[in-house]
Amino acid sequence: MPLYRYTPASSPCKLCGTGFDRLQSAAEPAFAACPTCGQAVTRAATHAVYAPKLLAPLSISSAKQAGFTVMKRVSSGEYEKQ
Ligand SMILES: [Zn+2]
Repeated sequence: MPLYRYTPASSPCKLCGTGFDRLQSAAEPAFAACPTCGQAVTRAATHAVYAPKLLAPLSISSAKQAGFTVMKRVSSGEYEKQ
């Protein structure tokens, strides 16, 4: 589900500041009013927060450095320590 950003008509709002975020399905209708203070709100463009960007690609060596145990799947369906 995408996260939508709502901003109040007269920002900043005393109750919700510069707006609020809501997780909504695309089929759900947008809020017309702020559920906290009741003033009119507008929905801003969708944030791409549901697809987080990793700072660096994951690698086995960096996982080991971070203290993780790296397991490798073998053909029998079991896992062995790498
Ligand atoms: Zn408000």
